[in-house]
Amino acid sequence: MKILKQVRLIVFPAIVLPLVMVLIALVALNYSYSKSLYTNGTNNVNYFTNSTHMVDELTADTFAEIKRIAKDDPESLENEDYIEKVNESLNTRYSYLIVRKDEKIIYRGTDQKHKKIEKMLPAYGSVIARTGNGMLVSKPENFLIKQQDFIFSDSSEGTVFIMSNLDNIAPKLQIVINQTICAIMIVLFMTSTILTWFMFKEFVRPIALLKEGTDRIREGDLDTDVEIVSDNEIGDLCISFNEMREELKSSINDRMRYEQDIRDLISNISHDLKTPLTAIKGYSEAIIDGVANTPEKMERYIKTIHSKANDMDVLLNELSIASKIDTNTIPYNFERIDIEEYFADCIEEISSDLEQKNMDFAFFNYMEEKCRVVADPEQLKRVINNIISNSCKYSAKKGKGGHVNIRLKDMESYVQVEIEDDGIGISAKDLPNIFNRLYRADTSRSSSGGSGLGLSISKKIIEDHGGHIWASSKVNTGTTIYFTLSKAAEYVEEEEYE
Ligand code: ADP
Repeated sequence: MKILKQVRLIVFPAIVLPLVMVLIALVALNYSYSKSLYTNGTNNVNYFTNSTHMVDELTADTFAEIKRIAKDDPESLENEDYIEKVNESLNTRYSYLIVRKDEKIIYRGTDQKHKKIEKMLPAYGSVIARTGNGMLVSKPENFLIKQQDFIFSDSSEGTVFIMSNLDNIAPKLQIVINQTICAIMIVLFMTSTILTWFMFKEFVRPIALLKEGTDRIREGDLDTDVEIVSDNEIGDLCISFNEMREELKSSINDRMRYEQDIRDLISNISHDLKTPLTAIKGYSEAIIDGVANTPEKMERYIKTIHSKANDMDVLLNELSIASKIDTNTIPYNFERIDIEEYFADCIEEISSDLEQKNMDFAFFNYMEEKCRVVADPEQLKRVINNIISNSCKYSAKKGKGGHVNIRLKDMESYVQVEIEDDGIGISAKDLPNIFNRLYRADTSRSSSGGSGLGLSISKKIIEDHGGHIWASSKVNTGTTIYFTLSKAAEYVEEEEYE
C-alpha cells in the first residue's frame, strides 16, 4: 500500500477514533450509572437527561456524615447550630434539610414549602431508611430524597431528610455536562488536527516533494534539487536523493563527453586510415599502369606503399591497445635490457623515419655507467614512437622540418628519458590533460590526424613499468616529454657489469 494512502488511513482514525471513543465512554457511563440509580419504581433515570446520579453525588458526603452522626452522636442532630451549618452547606448544592420529630417537621432548611412533597415523605423506619437508598419523586416536582432515622434523647422517633430539588439543579448540570462534552470534543479535534498537520509536514509533504523530484528526473530534468523540508529520515533521504541527482548528472555528462570523444575518434581514425590507404591505392595503381618504369621508381613506390601500410598498422595497433587498456590485458614481456644499447638500436630505426619527415634529431647519452632496466622492449618502443610521432605531427614548420633532442639521464635509482621538440607547444590550459584518453588540444583538433590515444597509452605503459611520465611545454617554443624507468636491482647490475 502506498505510504500516502497509509498516512491518510492513520490520520482519519486519529481524528475520528478519539471522538467515537469519548462517545462510547459516555454511553457506557450512562448505562452503568442508570443501573445503580435511585428509583421510585417508575423508571430508571438517564444520567445525561436529569443527572440524578450527579445530584446524589453532590450530597453523598453530607449524607454519609449524617448517617455516622445518627449512629454515634444522635444528640448533635438536636443541636440547631449543627443542623443549620449542615443545611447551609447543602444549600450551596441545591438541597436542604428537613428534621422530623415523630410526625411533626421541626426544622425546614428552606423558605419555600413543598407541601405535597412533604406529605409524601416516607415514614420512620421505611425501606428507604433501612436500605440507605434515596427516593426519587417526580410529581408534582422532581425531588431526590435521602432519609436517615435516629432516636431523640426523649426517645421520640426522629428523621433527617436531605431534599434535593432536581428541577433547579438538572438544567444547570445539563449545561455543565454539555459544555464538558463540547470541551472534550474540541480538545480531541484540536489534538487530532495538530497531529494531522504534523504528519503532513513531516511525512506527507516531503514524500510528495520527493515524488516530484523523481518525476522531474524521469522527464530528464537533472538540474533541480528536491526541497528539504524536514530533518528526519525522510529529510536525510532527500539529501541523498539530491546527491544521487548530482552524481547522475555528472555521470551522464561524462558519458555524453565519452560518446562524443568516441565519435571524434572514429572520424579521426577513419580520416587517418584514409590518407595512407589513398596513397597505397595510388602507388599500386601506378605500378599496375606501368608508371614505375625504372627499377629506382619501382623501389621508391614499393617503399612508399610499405611505409603507408606501416602507418595504418600503427594506427590499428593503437586502437587495439586502447581496448586492451580498458580490459587491463596489455600483453607484457618484461626483460632486462641494456638501456644504452636499446636506445642506440631505437635511434637507428627512428632516424630514417625522422629523415623522411625532414626532421633533425640529436641523441645525448648522459648515463654515467652501464645499466639495465626491466622493461618490455616492444611496448617501450611504442611509447618512444608515440612521443616522436607527436613531435613530427606538431612541428611548427608543418612537415618542413623541426628538431628533436633525445636525452638519456642517469638519476641514481632510475633512468630519465627526455624527448624535446621545437614544435607548436601546448597551452597551459591543455597541458594537464594531454595524458587523458581521447584528449586533444584545440590546436590539434583542427589539424589532421591524431586519435587522442597516443599519450594515454604511453602513460599506461610507463606506469605499468613502475615509472612516471610528464610534460613541460611552451606555446610556439616546444614541448618536452619526460619519462622514467627504474633500474634493475643493484646486485644484478654489479654481477652483470663487473
Ligand atoms: P594525438 O593522437 O591527438 O596526437 P596524443 O595522446 O598523442 O593524441 O596527444 C594528445 C594531445 O597532446 C595532442 O592532441 C596534442 O594536442 C598534444 N600534444 C602531444 N604531444 C605534443 C607535442 N609534441 N607538441 C604539441 N602538442 C602535443
